[in-house]
Amino acid sequence: MQIINPTTEKIIEEVIEDTEASVREKYFLLRKGQPEWAALKVDARIACIERFYELLEAEAPVLAETLTAESGKPLQQSFNELNGARSRTRWLLDHAARWLAEEWVITEGTTREKIVYEPLGVVANISAWNYPYLVGINVFIPALLGGNGVLYKPSEYATLTGLHIQRLLHAAGVPANVFQLVAGKGKAGEWLLQLPVNGYFFTGSYRTGQSIAEKVAGKLVPVQLELGGKDPLYVMDDVEDIEKVVAAALEGVVYNNGQSCCAVERIYVQEKVYDAFVDAYAKLAGKLVIGDPAREGTDVGPLSRPGQREFLLAQIRDAVDKGARLVYGGKALEGKGYFMQPAVLVDVDHTMKLMTEESFGPVVGIQRVKDDAEAVALMADTEYGLTAAVYSRSYERAEAVMRQLNTGTVYWNCCDRVSAGLPWSGRKHSGLGMTLSYQGIRAFVQPKAYHIRG
Ligand code: NAD
Repeated sequence: MQIINPTTEKIIEEVIEDTEASVREKYFLLRKGQPEWAALKVDARIACIERFYELLEAEAPVLAETLTAESGKPLQQSFNELNGARSRTRWLLDHAARWLAEEWVITEGTTREKIVYEPLGVVANISAWNYPYLVGINVFIPALLGGNGVLYKPSEYATLTGLHIQRLLHAAGVPANVFQLVAGKGKAGEWLLQLPVNGYFFTGSYRTGQSIAEKVAGKLVPVQLELGGKDPLYVMDDVEDIEKVVAAALEGVVYNNGQSCCAVERIYVQEKVYDAFVDAYAKLAGKLVIGDPAREGTDVGPLSRPGQREFLLAQIRDAVDKGARLVYGGKALEGKGYFMQPAVLVDVDHTMKLMTEESFGPVVGIQRVKDDAEAVALMADTEYGLTAAVYSRSYERAEAVMRQLNTGTVYWNCCDRVSAGLPWSGRKHSGLGMTLSYQGIRAFVQPKAYHIRG
């Protein structure tokens, strides 16, 4: 499999793809190793992941360089992702023992009762490329801490990073018969669906996630899906500092070249502050530095996958054809690399794909609304339910809006963020199940109820 650098379109490396037979062998290897791993005291498993945590820091420069080369992520953002990965791992390390410990429910009398949390067994982790450390860590760290074996398939667009992750976990003391990487494209993911694993943990698009859930439904094993979004940001007319809100919104749109599951994908602004917001947004977008992601000071690198630029240009064309106005950007850049200018569109509405279909790129439509009721109706008009952000001076007013939205996460005066202590979950087409927080530790174990008499 050729790993292409999206900045230069050159081959970085060739990697040997797994075959159906090698995937099966890896599965049997994990089946053998997992019971021994599960039999260890949780402290021994924590000690291995502690070493992984340290290696993430020790090797940060080379890990960041690889991530930028294969994904086009600006280098500083690759370092940020590694920092985020470490703090997420830290949180899981600090809380695993508590949430995996047995729980006594009744300790006296003729029948005592307790709950013991047992691993699921061998689980499959099919992962996305946009934040390979973060979305991977949400799954394989709590899975390993809980005593599971993990068959880990990184995205074909983040394979080199996946190989680093495997190398570091093994170097940290996670046995090779407990964690194995499967290298390949969608087909390799499909082979995982054939195996009798004890759980599927998927991060990626709605289309793939939904088809996986259908294919494995008959197995009656846990299936968790972290999928896409069409996340709205609403600016109320009482905001104190419009420039600050614009800066936050723009970062929410273009961070990671716009390829974040919880990126800001559509903006609604109340009439009174609409013109000021659009002017400031277009001006600030014009100052973004687009270029080589390995160079210091670059804000926006290339899109990661071929074809994605054409997809975004088609969304822009569809909007313009239906009456939208492009106020900044939206052009493909000449030359090598999948570069495009971020795009800002106004006079948009929900007949346009730009406002309803996940973009997954640095493009956004800004729509004028008259009041909170109209904003709520538009924010809720989506098949997705990942996050929603409200900017206002008043928490009470913002909360009244946030309470009405069917999303896994809501933000007041912030956006596009994930916290290890809070459950990360999508509703509707944004997913099923959750990671992070204590619930994301418990997602990888199953409770056994003990009734103890005598
Ligand atoms: P994708 O669905 O194209 O691929 C995800 C993974 O599935 C890859 O490893 C791929 O090889 C594999 N795959 C593809 N076809 C398969 C099949 N038929 N059977 C089994 N596996 C298959 O998604 P992507 O492009 O890697 O990621 C982008 C999407 O992920 C966006 O929609 C984004 O919003 C979403 N995402 C969600 C979260 C979240 O936490 N909710 C986080 C990151 C990304």
